[in-house]
Amino acid sequence: MKIRAHHLLCLQGFRGLGYSPEFIKKMEEMKRKMEVEGNFSIEVVDECDDICKVCPYQLDGVCQKGKKSAKRTRAVDRRVLKILGLKKGRKIPSQTLLSGIKEKLNFSLLIKICGECGWREVCTYYLKLRESWRKEMQLKRGEVA
Ligand code: SF4
Ligand code: SF4
Repeated sequence: MKIRAHHLLCLQGFRGLGYSPEFIKKMEEMKRKMEVEGNFSIEVVDECDDICKVCPYQLDGVCQKGKKSAKRTRAVDRRVLKILGLKKGRKIPSQTLLSGIKEKLNFSLLIKICGECGWREVCTYYLKLRESWRKEMQLKRGEVA
């Protein structure tokens, strides 16, 4: 399985919405695999992956969602690779990736990674980290007992 780095995070927050029925089916399939199939190898990349392959915005192996999407998405992938301490093209056990995400990602980093992503208000991963961050801030300000 080949996954571009930022899609590892999008998969965490996927809840059945997407760009086309094929795209949704692929996301469902990959999310299920990550959740139930134990440990398997994932090639982490900074280019079009198995999800992009069925995305209506992918053309000739390049993300063409917007004028700058190819460059922007690659930069986002590289940021995620750096945070996780990975090199592109490496094959990593899925459980190692999931543990790394849990350990190293936080909402401050996620804001920078996700930028203006249009799925933020429906992405359960984004919402979960934002909620934790809000609670943490309230605690720091002494607003919650
Ligand atoms: S907010 Fe968007 S970019 Fe960020 S993890 Fe969710 S779907 Fe992916
Ligand atoms: S082609 Fe672009 S919009 Fe489509 S899944 Fe890949 S990165 Fe996302």
